[in-house]
Parts: sequence; C-alpha cells; structure tokens
Amino acid sequence: MGNIYFDICSIPLFLIILFVCYSRRMTKGNANHLFIALVLISLISAVADLGIEIPRGLLPMSPALTVFCTVSTYIYLIMRNATNVVLLLFLLHLTQTSFLIRNKVAKILFSLPYTALVILLIQNPITHNVFIVTAETGYARAPLMIACYIIAAIYGIVGFVYSIFCRRYLTLRKWLSLLSIYVLAYTAVIIQFFKPDSLLEMFFTAVGEMLVMLAVMRPEERMDSDVGMLSWASYRWDIRNILRSHEHVQIIVIRLQNGREIRNYLGDQKYNEYLTRIAGGIRSIKWKHPNRAEIYLERPDTIYIITEPDDTLTEDAARHLLTTVGEDVRKDVNMGVRSETRICLIRCPEDLSKEEDIISLGHKFSKIDSREQPVVPAGEIVNSQTFAVEVHIEDILDRAIGENLVEMHYQPIYDVRSGRFCSAEALVRIRDPEFGLLSPGVFIPAAEAQGLIIPLGDVITEQVFRFVSEHDLDELGLDFVEMNLSVAQCMDSALPGKFLSLQEKYGVDPARINLEITETTYENVSEIMLENINELIGMGYTFALDDYGTGYSNIQRINRLPLRLITIDKTVLDEISTENGRTILEYTMRMMQKTGKQLVVEGAETREVVETLENLGCDYIQGFYFSKPLPGDEFVRFIEDKRINKTPAGV
Ligand code: C2E
Ligand code: MG
Ligand code: MG
Repeated sequence: MGNIYFDICSIPLFLIILFVCYSRRMTKGNANHLFIALVLISLISAVADLGIEIPRGLLPMSPALTVFCTVSTYIYLIMRNATNVVLLLFLLHLTQTSFLIRNKVAKILFSLPYTALVILLIQNPITHNVFIVTAETGYARAPLMIACYIIAAIYGIVGFVYSIFCRRYLTLRKWLSLLSIYVLAYTAVIIQFFKPDSLLEMFFTAVGEMLVMLAVMRPEERMDSDVGMLSWASYRWDIRNILRSHEHVQIIVIRLQNGREIRNYLGDQKYNEYLTRIAGGIRSIKWKHPNRAEIYLERPDTIYIITEPDDTLTEDAARHLLTTVGEDVRKDVNMGVRSETRICLIRCPEDLSKEEDIISLGHKFSKIDSREQPVVPAGEIVNSQTFAVEVHIEDILDRAIGENLVEMHYQPIYDVRSGRFCSAEALVRIRDPEFGLLSPGVFIPAAEAQGLIIPLGDVITEQVFRFVSEHDLDELGLDFVEMNLSVAQCMDSALPGKFLSLQEKYGVDPARINLEITETTYENVSEIMLENINELIGMGYTFALDDYGTGYSNIQRINRLPLRLITIDKTVLDEISTENGRTILEYTMRMMQKTGKQLVVEGAETREVVETLENLGCDYIQGFYFSKPLPGDEFVRFIEDKRINKTPAGV
C-alpha cells in the first residue's frame, strides 16, 4: 500500500476550497462553475484513489473488495483525466479565449483524447488491457494503461504550454498561480515515478487549486460588495473580452434617471440597500439562462446586465422590478421614492462592435434618443447623426483644433436704454466636414471631459481677439464683445499670460473684451481661479456672470465678485408669463442694479417678452427676437444695416 496520508490530507483541503467558494459567493459565471467543477472532480479523484489504495493494503482480497477496487479505479481514471480537461477549459474561460474551441473541428480535436480514454475504459472489462483487479493478484496495470497516461499528458502539456502563452491576459500573480497547478502536478508525478508509494499527486493538486482560489478567484476584485453587483471595471473588462472572443450577447443598460436624487434623498447607506434590492430583483427574474446574466453597477445610477442574446428584460418587467423595489424602500424609510428609468438594449456585436462605442452608448443613450420612450433598442439610434457625433467627438475636436475648423458666431445684445446694439456674445461652433455645423452644447462638455477645452479655448480666444482687432467697434456702435470662459480655462495659470500676448499681438484694448464665467464655475472657485480673475481685472478686462438662475445663485458671493454684468439664463423666461415669475425677475434685477451690476436677459424670442423685459427695467436683452448668433461677417453686416437704416433694433 502507498502512503495514503497525503491523499487523506487532500480531502479536507478540497472541502475547504469548496466551502470558501460558496461562502465567497463564487457560484456564478462560467469561470467559477468550471473552478468548482475542477475542485469537485479532484475531490472525487482523491476519494477514488483512496478507494484503490486502502483495500489493497488493509484487507485481504475478497470478491467484494475486488469489485470495490475495480469501481474505484474506473472512477479514478475517469475523474483524474477529467481534471486535466476541466483545468484546460477553466484556463480558456479565465483568459476569455474559449472561442478557440467554438467551431466543430476544434471541439472534436479538444474532446478526442478524452473520448479515446472513455472507449479504452469501456472495453477494459472484456479485454483487461488497461488494468485488472482479481482476488488472487490484486490490482495490476495492463499494457494500455500507458495510453491513459499519454492522454492525461496531452491535456496537461497543452494546458501548461497554453498557460505560458496566456501571460499577457493575466496579472503576474494570477498567471503564476495558474502555472503552479501544472508545476505542482508534474512535480508530484516525477516524485511518484521515482517513489511510487509516495502518492503525492492529489495533495499537490489540492495545494495548487488552493493557490488558484486565493490568487485568481478573487470576487472582491470584481464586486462592488456594498451592493452585490459586479464593478464598473469588471464591466469594461468583460465587454473587451466578449468582443475579442466574438461572443454574441445582449447588454441591457438600466439608467436610473433620478438616481442621484434618490441617493441624496436616502443617504449613501440606504441607497446601497436600494441598489442591493434592485440586484436581487434582477436576479429573481426568470432569465432563460440564469447563469449567464451578470449584473454590473456603474455608480451612482447605471446598471448593466449582460445576457444571452435571446434573453431580454421587457419594459414591463423592468418597470415592475423598479416600482416594487421603490415601494419596498418607501415603506422602509417611510418616504416617497419613485425611480424613473430608461433602458437601452444593445445587441453585441450586431448593433455595436467597439468597446468605446458600447461604453459611450450606455452613457449617452438617454441624451441621444430624445423620444423619451422607456426602452431604447440600440439598433434604432446607432446609425443616427447624433450618436455618430457623440462617438466621434474626440476626433471631431482634434480635427477642429488641428485644422482650424473652429468658427466664432456673434449674437447681438440690445441696450434697452439707448435702443441700439451695444455688444455681442461670441459663441463657438465647429464646422466639421463630415458632420456639418456643430453647436457648443454638443462639444463643449466633451472637450471639458477630455481635457481638450484648453487648446479649444486658445483657438476661441485668438479668434475673438482677431475679430476685435479687425473691426472698428466704435464705428459699429459696440462697446465690447463677450467671450465665454470655461472652468478649466479659468484655472489655467497661463491664462493671463496668454491674454497679454494676444492683446499685444492684435493691439486690442482689454476694455473691449468682457469675459463670461458661469455660476457653476464660480461655485468651484479656487485660489488660482481668483488669482487669474484678479490679474485679468488688473489688466483691464471685465467679467460677467453667465446663466444666473440655473445654479444656487449665492447672492453674497456674487456681491463680492467684481462683476460688470450678470446674464440671467433663458430658462428664467419660462416663468415670465406668470405674475410670480415677473415679480421674481423684476426684484432680482432691481437687487442687482442697486448693487451696481447691470443685467442681460438672454433667450428673448418674441416681441411680447422683449416688451415685458423693457417694462421690468432690464438693461440689456439678447435673443432670437433680435438675431440668432451669426458668422462674423454676417454679424457685421447685420449691425451696419441696423445702424444705417436706424431701424429700431430687431424689427
Ligand atoms: P451661453 O453662454 O449661456 O450662451 C447663450 C446661449 O443661448 C447660446 O447657445 C445662444 O445661441 C442661446 N440663445 C440666445 N438667444 C436665444 C433664444 O432666444 N432662444 C434660444 N433657444 N436660445 C438662445 P449656444 O451658442 O448653443 O451656446 C450654448 C452654450 O455653450 C453657451 O451658453 C456657453 O455656455 C457655451 N459656449 C458657447 N460658446 C462658448 C465658448 O466660446 N467657450 C466656452 N467655454 N463656452 C461656450
Ligand atoms: Mg455666455
Ligand atoms: Mg447664458
């Protein structure tokens, strides 16, 4: 009898691994399934190995023991070889390269050696050419036993070589742990070759699998454990691998439109509970392929589910899910929470086959699809111009900056008191050869997000300085031109230097340029921004606060800022038809004027609105009623025309 203690020790090790797998909830997903299968099969092999060894050594051979030993040998050979097969499959799944065995030929080649083993074992009871167990001789190997070893070696060597090749798909730690399974198994085989009684193989296998469990199967790396969903990083990683493996899947993007509000309302902890319940709800849906449905969270408000292509979340199911969860939470916190959701269904790779596009659509579908339908099939929007622009925005911006496709348009601003146009706001456009004239609402946020706002801002600034230098503003009756500055520009420590060199290059008087910063810029005010603003003011530039009424409108802060103008956002005009709306506007304007600031109201589209604003005492009005933003030369013609004809502005 061999030294069975190693075999015996391996059994609790396998049981511990299984226990840990279940307690760490590593029960979903193909890689987890294969790993658990690997450990189970290894456990059965170890038990079967003992089933061969114990009777041989401890008891005299009897017919019953012969049968027991024979059955154990069959189980051992079947299972031990299966561990090699499953280990190789595990490796393929872990490295997301299982597509390599997806076609028929590959499948046949892959299963051929194992099939040969099964055939060998099936014919063994008749031929006894693999092994034989008799009461007289006990267990004895027959010549074809070598075939079993060769078959095991085929999977083992292929797996070992492949795992070396897979280095680039895995981190060093994971890769070394995977290699260790093979290295330990080969070491055991070599030791056993020289010392046949040592029976180290199953023990070494258990150690290798334990290393893999500790180093490779780390659900906490993939999980957002506060909510029981996979993390956003895992989503990106899985998408990349799905595309690489040409797998067909469906991605269901659930966007909680008011997720941020719900979070603010519930607080972080309750919000996590809320998301945990959503995850539970999604899991309880009767998916056709429940093991395939993986749930991911991109904090704070976007959930992704990757399913088989024929498995889908209907609008009804989604709504039901979210209202039930909402109801539950409402009962819990004794307050009203109602989630508003939009869902996008992306078939991959049919609708989209690039990682960035899939990520981008998940983020932007509710903005791109303005129809406000709750479920948006990606196929309906991926060919739209808006999506193309959103997806290519980085290239568009690069091209615009590099090839000078940035164009400034100017919108006149009407001075109520003098009845003439006294200034203009410079508004940027991009004239893209492929996508046409693009408005800043589309590309400014993208430029800010991608760190391109500074180079874009530099182009804008230069164009505005050039425009001011090329035209005699006095002759046009304009006091100054307004230019928008974004937060990043305000925080650029080189900003005053850039302005200084431009004013020298173009011979522009700084008093001719009024710089608009938004309320949100000012909310994020930083030391460097204040330094910039003060330095520019010292150089002679003036400032205006844009979009007043859209943020928190901190009156004290506004009072402290040396502002020349305040621009009231056009959304404020939505209320102008009501008595209350007019009262608020009137008193806001008075308050500002009393503190020495002048007011522009933007967004006036009709004569009635203009008249109301005039009656309320507004200083300046900007809006489509007078003119839309116009390209430089058209704008100049417009102003000249108004001056020559001395027509009341806008009529
Ligand atoms: P903003 O600075 O508040 O500019 C006013 C916006 O209101 C402009 O939109 C203008 O076309 C629009 N507008 C003016 N009158 C009316 C009207 O009567 N009705 C309607 N519906 N709209 C009116 P635009 O040109 O699309 O610019 C949007 C925003 O993009 C700007 O809002 C500004 O925040 C930003 N932006 C524009 N140009 C620049 C720029 O050169 N640099 C930076 N950093 N931001 C810019
Ligand atoms: Mg503005
Ligand atoms: Mg504005």
